[in-house]
Amino acid sequence: METQIPAWHSTVGYPQLGKGPDYRGYVVKVQGTDDGHPERWFTYAFDQDARHTYWIGMTDSADEAKAVLERLLKDGWICEHYIGDDAGHCSDRAMTVRSTWDEGRTKKFRVLLCEAHRNILPDWDRMTIGQYVRTFSGLEQDEPIKGARK
Ligand SMILES: [Zn+2]
Repeated sequence: METQIPAWHSTVGYPQLGKGPDYRGYVVKVQGTDDGHPERWFTYAFDQDARHTYWIGMTDSADEAKAVLERLLKDGWICEHYIGDDAGHCSDRAMTVRSTWDEGRTKKFRVLLCEAHRNILPDWDRMTIGQYVRTFSGLEQDEPIKGARK
C-alpha cells in the first residue's frame, strides 16, 4: 500500500507535515551554527489516535529531519532483531517494544520486534508501540542497532 505523504509547510515558523486532519508532525532546529555549534534538528511525530506528539530522532539538517518522519509514514516501525551475519536485521513490520534496565537501573535498553520475534527476550517488559510512545514520549527507529542495516 502506497502511503500518501502530506505536504510540508512552515506557517508557524518551522516545517510541519500536513495540516488539519492530515497533520503528522514537525521538525525543529534545536542547535544552530550561529552559536558556533553544528546544526542539530529534532523530529517529532504526531499520533493521530492518541492526539500525542513524540520525539523520533536527531539529525544534522532539515532535510534529514524531514526524511525521518517521511520514512515512518511510508514504512511504519520495523523489527530490529538481528537474524545473523547473512540476513542482517529483520525488516518486518514491528508490533511490540521489549525493554529492560541495566543492572544499575541507569540506562534502559529497548528493541522493536515483529510478530515472529515478539517472544524473544521473554524476561523483558513488553508494550505495544502505542503504549511505549505514550509512556516515554520518544522512540527512535534502529536506535539499538550499531552501524547501518544491510
Ligand atoms: Zn522480526
